[in-house]
Amino acid sequence: MAEPARSIYNLTYDQLSERLADWGEPSFRVQQVWQWLYQSLVTETEAMRNIPLALRRRLEEDLGMGALRPVRTIASQDQATKKWLFELADGETIETVLMQYRRRRTACISAQVGCAFACAFCATGQMGLHRNLTAGEIVQQVLVVERFLREEGEEKQRQLTNIVFMGMGEPLANYRATLQAVRTLHDPRGLAFAGRRITLSTVGLVPAMRRLADEGLELGLAISLHAPGDELRDRLVPINRQFPLAQLMDACRNYANKTGRRLTFEYTLIRDVNDGHEQARQLVQRLRGLLCHLNIIPLNPVSDRAFQPPARAQVDAFRQILERGGISVTVRMRRGIDIQAGCGQLRSPPPTRHQRRNAV
Ligand code: SF4
Repeated sequence: MAEPARSIYNLTYDQLSERLADWGEPSFRVQQVWQWLYQSLVTETEAMRNIPLALRRRLEEDLGMGALRPVRTIASQDQATKKWLFELADGETIETVLMQYRRRRTACISAQVGCAFACAFCATGQMGLHRNLTAGEIVQQVLVVERFLREEGEEKQRQLTNIVFMGMGEPLANYRATLQAVRTLHDPRGLAFAGRRITLSTVGLVPAMRRLADEGLELGLAISLHAPGDELRDRLVPINRQFPLAQLMDACRNYANKTGRRLTFEYTLIRDVNDGHEQARQLVQRLRGLLCHLNIIPLNPVSDRAFQPPARAQVDAFRQILERGGISVTVRMRRGIDIQAGCGQLRSPPPTRHQRRNAV
């Protein structure tokens, strides 16, 4: 099988610094190269004007600029959501989504090709896990979206404001690459993306959540909950059998205590499965006293699954029970549903020959 591409984006600032020192370059070069990559967002070493030609060639040949080839981009009817399908160097494909709100521009990025956790209602979960993404492949998704906003965004909307790891895969199952990517995005010498504006989503990998709490980063953490009790969660989110709710909630409390960050719980509402009044009351009990916010997401239809979204009245009734129970709650707007870019809808079909030929 082909390897993921070599890429300069796989290196941290310190690693790049060491590499350039090994090549006998003066120490100021690393800052220059880093700025070209993460402030100017160049795509070719040729554009690095203050870097000597010999070094530009060496960067290209020895490190490579990475390969994230857009084979298809589509926008929702209202143009607020845009989805990229990228082909990676080994032929795998991933999806990245930009969601534009009035005040926020959020990139939803992938951490793995496919996913091993097989949540019952999730399109990505149906693919199984193909492989982890490298740190460079994660970072480059953000750079593509940021470049797009700079070039085509409306005035005053030319920068990303938020990054969420809610695309394909489970970021905490690709812990090392995810954290390295976060640190690169966060680096003040480059994109300088504040940790508070980055959210990792997890299905509830308790040991990794505990580790993350001790990283000294202020990342947002979103937990895919989807059920108020173990019996149902075992069915909807199979990893619950390994890390049941008591353990998960304990890890959540630990994260909130150590980071001071309010947790977000995601609850996909599915008709006649987890949308009952009694289930809403159980959820109140489960979340009461925790520094948290609950997002209710009416199920996005995935064509080959039996689950259905609830009726609007059921969504409202569910929300009201939570509110009366003192839980901070939002019903999330369905974004990009017409282009299969909603929650649990990302699944990358291999590009057709036509798409490969017409790659944008
Ligand atoms: S919901 Fe998240 S963890 Fe579950 S299968 Fe989908 S991508 Fe994987």
